Amino acid sequence: MRNDWLIRMDNLRLVKKTDLHQKTTININDLRIGESLTVIAGPCSVESERQTIETAIKVKEAGADMLRGGAFKPRTSPYAFQGLGLEGLKILEMAKRETGLPIVTEAVDPRDVSWVSEFADVIQIGARNMQNFSLLKEVGRIDKPVLLKRGMYSTLAEWLNCAEYILAEGNPNVMLCERGIRTFETYTRNTLDLSMVPAIKSETHLPVFVDPSHGTGRKHLIESMIMAAISAGTDGLIVEVHINPEQAMSDARQQFTPEEFSAIMEKARALEAFYKNNEKSGK
Ligand code: PEP
Ligand code: MN
Repeated sequence: MRNDWLIRMDNLRLVKKTDLHQKTTININDLRIGESLTVIAGPCSVESERQTIETAIKVKEAGADMLRGGAFKPRTSPYAFQGLGLEGLKILEMAKRETGLPIVTEAVDPRDVSWVSEFADVIQIGARNMQNFSLLKEVGRIDKPVLLKRGMYSTLAEWLNCAEYILAEGNPNVMLCERGIRTFETYTRNTLDLSMVPAIKSETHLPVFVDPSHGTGRKHLIESMIMAAISAGTDGLIVEVHINPEQAMSDARQQFTPEEFSAIMEKARALEAFYKNNEKSGK
């Protein structure tokens, strides 16, 4: 009897590789996502003009390619900070004007997708919404790239079927993001499944990102997970950075200061260059 995994994979038409070397490149301004390591950095939440713009300037100086920041926050508690909404999007727009960095921000409600996409260069679908099929169909109808995070209880086949929902609606520009899954371990916030990077890349032509900030939830683990993700062949990283992490309104324990981020970026870019040189010399 054929197992569930194969049956779920059989239904995929658009996200599966048709040959071993097929790769999707997503162009945003002069970025070629899928061709070289793309780093998305910025605060968990947009909290204020100053916090967002200062962080944006600093992450750009450190070599980030895009700015992240949540204006709509999917929080576990209904009483926790839910994000600034439209005001947050306007702040992101200012940060983009100031730095030129494209914006990655989350939409949590299908009714908001079309207007949120006017502020965003990439619309993020968060882990909690990976299988929100009406949201997936809605982002399938816009002309902006989508960053689809892996649901915390999702298998490779379920995740790819969610990407298929977006492509089936006509939007071919989807990047996947591994951000950790729930296991019995509680030391880490999630268990970052880095084996998923080569695994899913062997099945799909879509670019794959890793988010070691949400993947571990602990600052002292993030640097080594960044290096490991690059070694695993990730196409990009998402890293949370805040000008004053202790005062952050969400995810205070996992955000780097800009100085910490800058030091790690130097090492990350050096490792990226090492693999590029090896590739060139056929190693
Ligand atoms: C985020 O990136 O802001 C976020 C909430 O992440 P996740 O959906 O992976 O929990
Ligand atoms: Mn966060």
